[in-house]
Amino acid sequence: MVDYREPTLAIPYYNSKFMGQPTLEAITREHLAELGCTVELGTRLISFTQDEKSVKAKVIKYSGNGGEEVEEDIEAAYLIGADGAKGVTRKQLGLSFLGTTREDDLMVLGDIHLETKGLDRDHWHFLSPMSRDVRISFRPTDELGKDGWQFGMSSCTVDLKGLVHDEEALVNCIQDSVGLGDHVKVKEVMWVSDFRPNMRMVNKLGAGRIFVAGGMDFNIAWKIALVYKGLSPASLLDTYTAERLPVIAEMLGFTTKLHDRTFDSSYVEHTARSTVDEDDNSKQMKSKLERAMRRNGKMYMLGVNYRTSPIVVDEFVPTPTSGVAVVQSTYGDSQEGILRAGDRAPDAPGLMPVGAPVCFDIFASTHHTVIMFAPALAVPVVRSVLATLDQSVPREVVRRVVVLPGSASGPDGRVEMSSEVDQAIDAEVLVGHAGHAYRGYIAESQEVKIIIVRPDGVVGANVRGVTGLARYLEGVFGRMVGMH
Ligand SMILES: Cc1cc2nc3c(=O)[nH]c(=O)nc-3n(C[C@H](O)[C@H](O)[C@H](O)COP(=O)(O)OP(=O)(O)OC[C@H]3O[C@@H](n4cnc5c(N)ncnc54)[C@H](O)[C@@H]3O)c2cc1C
Repeated sequence: MVDYREPTLAIPYYNSKFMGQPTLEAITREHLAELGCTVELGTRLISFTQDEKSVKAKVIKYSGNGGEEVEEDIEAAYLIGADGAKGVTRKQLGLSFLGTTREDDLMVLGDIHLETKGLDRDHWHFLSPMSRDVRISFRPTDELGKDGWQFGMSSCTVDLKGLVHDEEALVNCIQDSVGLGDHVKVKEVMWVSDFRPNMRMVNKLGAGRIFVAGGMDFNIAWKIALVYKGLSPASLLDTYTAERLPVIAEMLGFTTKLHDRTFDSSYVEHTARSTVDEDDNSKQMKSKLERAMRRNGKMYMLGVNYRTSPIVVDEFVPTPTSGVAVVQSTYGDSQEGILRAGDRAPDAPGLMPVGAPVCFDIFASTHHTVIMFAPALAVPVVRSVLATLDQSVPREVVRRVVVLPGSASGPDGRVEMSSEVDQAIDAEVLVGHAGHAYRGYIAESQEVKIIIVRPDGVVGANVRGVTGLARYLEGVFGRMVGMH
């Protein structure tokens, strides 16, 4: 159970949306096609080797319909293996996968078509009758049609192992567990699978030119792009492990606790013992189950951060009070009103080019964005920041934006350009209307604040001027600082 949260200007997409893998894959492929990439299906990675210059991978391509298997060698600068925990990349790289597998906490899941009376399609239904041993849930899945549902079953007392290979037993178990007779009837089972939770993680996320990635990891892509183009030193790639591993470790600790609460066997044992006051007992169990299923703010994952990263720079961190230990969480809850280098960059709505009433999106995964919050264009820091950028990095990898407070523009949106120097400024000049961007980035209208947003949407630097900027550029672009 996750509370609905009203979107805010800084976080416009608060609430998650469930969708099936085919839908998600179609969306991802559509975006890749726009970027000129196609996904070659039916291709399996078999093995790979690497040296200082490249990676050589062996793959097998299947032509389908009982056709031939064709072996192919691919040479590439880097390899990212997103082939899952059991994949060949992790194993061949010799990365450890330490932790535990909860063999007994088995879940059986699948897609089914149901004939139902009374199960509405606006909710995810958790049916846990107090007298039954199997918990079952049905989530409406419109991608399968108006009678399509995804079910999930678990039990602390009943062995569900065989159900994946025995459809008749599965259907009977579903009907019995629901206990509503003909009100819920299984029409068709589309697929079924079992799932044992693994609380495991690798010791590092890559070696040399080869990396492992899970889900959709933006952290490594932009770093490889910069190193590949010769704009950053290869050591930048080490920060992938340095930034992600603490997040993964903390996430595993958190999700393990959630899992333990959800699979808490006392829920069932307590139910089985109950004899005296059934109503009272039911109420207690219901609230216990509700508590176990409740997911708090961390689950939005908007508080995931790299504050401890060696390449982020923050000059606004308050000096810690002596004797008070600062607990640094990389998987915290997001807190509007607090922004540190390493945090997710808040959206910056209401940015408008001087004199033009159109909203502007200044972030993209293909470049860094340096935002200079300044009370006026004539502030000297603006010019020194631009000069440092000119000396350090090519224009195409860093977008430069000056954001003036809304008060700097007149009623017609025009900003008074005070001198020729102002007009010649080599950056996009925007006005932060209604103060949204200033609030999101905790900038005062009379102060100068330099924010660098990385291509992966993380605040890389939260600094006052050139010194902090140079430290950030040194960390990411290394020896490029100061070069023309
Ligand atoms: C039934 C089930 C339910 C789950 N429920 C949850 C949940 O509720 N919440 C949660 O957080 N996690 C859940 N998980 C776990 C979650 O799905 C995984 O943690 C996540 O998918 C891992 O992502 P990944 O990208 O690392 O690997 P995967 O999603 O496993 O993707 C790996 C891909 O690589 C492909 N591949 C493998 N080997 C090769 C090769 N040699 N060559 C080419 N391609 C290859 C595979 O076919 C697959 O498409 C569930 C898992 C299962 C199985």
